[in-house]
Amino acid sequence: LKPVPSDIDIASNVTPIHIAKIAKHYGILEDEVDQYGKYKAKVQLSIIDRLKDQEDANYVVVTGINPTPLGEGKSTTTIGLCQALGAHLKKTAFACIRQPSQGPTFGIKGGAAGGGYSQVVPMEEFNLHMTGDIHAITAANNLLAAAIDTRILHESTQSDAALFKRLCPEAKDGSRKFAPIMLGRLQKLGITKTNPNDLTQEEISKFVRLDIDPTLITWNRVLDTNDRFLRGITIGQGKEEERFQRKTNFDISVASEIMAVLALSTSLADMRERLGRMVVGPSKAGVPITADDLGVGGALTVLMKDAIMPTLMQTLEGTPVLVHAGPFANIAHGNSSIVADQIALKLAGKDGFVVTEAGFGADIGAEKFFDIKCRSSGLKPNCAVIVATIRALKMHGGGPKVVAGTPLDKAYTGENIPLLSEGVGNLAHHIKNLKKFGVGVVVAINRFSSDTDAEIDLLVSRSLEAGADSAVMTNHWEEGGKGAIDLAKAVQEACLKTQPENFKYLYPLDLSIKEKIETIAKEIYGADGVEYSAEAEKKIQLYTNQGFSNLPICMAKTHLSLSHDPEKKGVPTGFTLPIRDVRASIGAGFIYPLVGSMNTIPGLPTRPCFYEIDIDLKTGKILGLS
Ligand code: ADP
Repeated sequence: LKPVPSDIDIASNVTPIHIAKIAKHYGILEDEVDQYGKYKAKVQLSIIDRLKDQEDANYVVVTGINPTPLGEGKSTTTIGLCQALGAHLKKTAFACIRQPSQGPTFGIKGGAAGGGYSQVVPMEEFNLHMTGDIHAITAANNLLAAAIDTRILHESTQSDAALFKRLCPEAKDGSRKFAPIMLGRLQKLGITKTNPNDLTQEEISKFVRLDIDPTLITWNRVLDTNDRFLRGITIGQGKEEERFQRKTNFDISVASEIMAVLALSTSLADMRERLGRMVVGPSKAGVPITADDLGVGGALTVLMKDAIMPTLMQTLEGTPVLVHAGPFANIAHGNSSIVADQIALKLAGKDGFVVTEAGFGADIGAEKFFDIKCRSSGLKPNCAVIVATIRALKMHGGGPKVVAGTPLDKAYTGENIPLLSEGVGNLAHHIKNLKKFGVGVVVAINRFSSDTDAEIDLLVSRSLEAGADSAVMTNHWEEGGKGAIDLAKAVQEACLKTQPENFKYLYPLDLSIKEKIETIAKEIYGADGVEYSAEAEKKIQLYTNQGFSNLPICMAKTHLSLSHDPEKKGVPTGFTLPIRDVRASIGAGFIYPLVGSMNTIPGLPTRPCFYEIDIDLKTGKILGLS
């Protein structure tokens, strides 16, 4: 239809195919599917093992130029490309995308199911609770938070003997051994005794007292709502907890380390290990205290046991989508899960395609996809699709700011070759960066109705000059898969041409933390150098001393610019990247330097998206989701 109706109008006018039928069609056995209603199903990880002898499909990552308020359409392109590959070129093509947080759905951005005629359906189920994974993360995160503060309270109010009696009731019975959950802590302390009754007084004291430093706890509580009033809170105001009052914060649930763990785990066993080794802060003696020290690693895994299964859904054209995880791209790696990609690569098989999306621009999302996600999974991608829009590149070229509620400037709605020529450098910079990883690079020019042929021609020629394997205009938002056939053919060709053996990481893990940061800053962002605050220097020393220096780096930087300054569009030069602080997610397995300040729980605008959202009481249809 023209004009293209709203996303929810398009989505709610199709009747999706029953999910059992989709599962069967794509080779998933009945026993491997747990249905959640008619249109969603969790799929079991055992598929990976069942199909272990099957060759993997082509592995494609979708990324973008530096985002602007004018939007690039990475999710829309991921879905449109899969519709073209699957429904038009008759290949098996899985889209692997992230589950959106309710923060943006009700806040500023709206949902993330794609748009126009390239969407995941039912989009309202996708954008709201889906299969409850984010709720599970919230529950697990907050159980750990409760364990920390309660442990501090118990340790300060009880003697060693009383603590030991309560922590190890098995000690009462001389014949019994320590419960398995205690073994990790005993090992950490170098205690090899297996009978609780054999511990000396000194060993008991070391064993029962984690002695967490309340002023240095890094574990926050989480909620999946843009509630800015939780950015700073004081806990412990109840009568019995008053002595333990402390200031802490809430983060949005998707910023929880548990979300990053979910996205990077390669199996249930791997997730158990990662959850157990998450560090919540140091003891007063500076020893990192983990979830397993608190005895909660097993319980966290139990809360996450269903969440580790990806959710199967479908596109508007009935092709398969695996939705799984959605780590906050600001302080985590912003990519969907490894297990979803692994399952899809096996199901799609040798001639098939798996198209997975990396959040934010290629300087953040794609770099982390290659250096963190692929390193963790061992998977080798064939091709990167970089999504660009003419409007956004004009903004990189110095186009006027967009003011909410006012019509778009004519620079964006009419032809403007000089502005586009100025801005195309941002795209060229990302193309050159992506080539460094040894993958094929295809530019997808996501067409808006106001784009002119001359503008598209310019973008194609400049992309090829910058080293892209191909650059094609794609019109999937308006036409669905049919509009992305050229893009799908270009991706097919790039995959055929690229050898997965050529894939390489940007840096080896055995470089020092600083060397790794500097490699990313100079090679990817184009910085002249890096400067560190005193706090950052201190933390780098601390993590190095604690033996964490061989982890990959997950830069927490603005997505709006290649530099640290969101106002600097295009290709900024002559800047030094300032590292304000450095933190570590030991369970997820990365060090994250903070470049500038990061908000880990967004706020709501004056007129948030929730104003539009309601339910039709007669039909039960959800209205106004975008
Ligand atoms: P991203 O993944 O880059 O954040 P999305 O794919 O979620 O972007 O798209 C953001 C919004 O832009 C969606 O509402 C989508 O419908 C809209 N959009 C995407 N591509 C186009 C296009 N070619 N024309 C008009 N609107 C588009």
